[in-house]
Amino acid sequence: MNYSTWEQRVHTVEPYTPGEQPKTDNVIKLNTNENPFPPSPAVLKAIKDYNADALRLYPDTRAGLLTDALAKRYGVKSEQVFVGVGSDDVLSQAFLTFFDSGKEILFPDITYSFYDVWAELYRIPYRTVPLKDDFTIDPDDYKCDNGGIVIPNPNAPTGVLESLDTIEEILRANPTSVVIIDEAYIDFGGVSCLPLIDKYDNLLVVQTFSKSRSMAGMRIGFAIGSEKLIKYLSDVKFSINSYTMNPLSIIAGAAAVEDEEYFIKTTEEIIRTREYSKKRLSELGFTFPDSMSNFIFASHSSVPAKEIFGRLKECGIYVRYWDKPRINNHLRITIGTRENMDKVFDKLAEIVG
Ligand code: PMP
Repeated sequence: MNYSTWEQRVHTVEPYTPGEQPKTDNVIKLNTNENPFPPSPAVLKAIKDYNADALRLYPDTRAGLLTDALAKRYGVKSEQVFVGVGSDDVLSQAFLTFFDSGKEILFPDITYSFYDVWAELYRIPYRTVPLKDDFTIDPDDYKCDNGGIVIPNPNAPTGVLESLDTIEEILRANPTSVVIIDEAYIDFGGVSCLPLIDKYDNLLVVQTFSKSRSMAGMRIGFAIGSEKLIKYLSDVKFSINSYTMNPLSIIAGAAAVEDEEYFIKTTEEIIRTREYSKKRLSELGFTFPDSMSNFIFASHSSVPAKEIFGRLKECGIYVRYWDKPRINNHLRITIGTRENMDKVFDKLAEIVG
């Protein structure tokens, strides 16, 4: 390739590819792990009651209303909470803040495909650690010199949940680097490692409003950790953009956190539909690692995933497929409403039958 002089000075990067957002409404969209239910009615009310005149003003740089609501909900100090524009924003800033030793950071080989993009963007050396054949982690693989660790729990796109013991074993072996546990999907039946932050001041737990709180469009994510970690993270944020959280996200986010009843009702319904979906998929000849998230990572015994993906898409059913080593015969199917899942299983029965 022939680059002109200025192009040689550009910070180039291969960007992350998000799941497709189809333009028409007439589809069953199970490709980006969104929640099929609307946000809490309290969120809708908070937005409706918002006085748009206040948009003249810059928002609260601390996003105090939201930060304090999260601190209360999770039983930590406000100084232990950091909020951002989706957990992608939080994770990206955490990479920039904590992975600065010049040593390789570690994450699983099959995982959220944004991690290597941030590592490349920030020029952080990294090494991917192969998951075992059943897609679980061997904690011994993380007992080595490293510049940091990031692990999603449950993992994406596999849906596999690691036990608290495994997470703690990794933490115990790594007092000299920051360990980020990305709990984007923890609310669908997993056990959060949040209680471990009191014991490990190098543990950052990251969660999102995009999945269990039905607010992917609002872009809210947060991290909880020791006051020290959060202070370092905030210093970097305030060196990039003081006003990341817009006022609507702040009030709507706080309203969502305060409506615990709705949160429990909708997450429980998704868990129920997931367990039902496991049964239906098994009956259709699919196999999958046991998922504790709001998606199932399935492959079929006789029909290739790529073919199923194409056939589903033709009839307006969107799931996610990656043409990548180790996972190119799997589909990641988000759990939708029971009604929509039944339509998917009917179609799958035609395709694999
Ligand atoms: N972590 C994981 C493991 C994810 O799958 C996602 C969703 N794509 C995110 C983080 C980011 O989600 P958001 O930015 O919407 O909070």
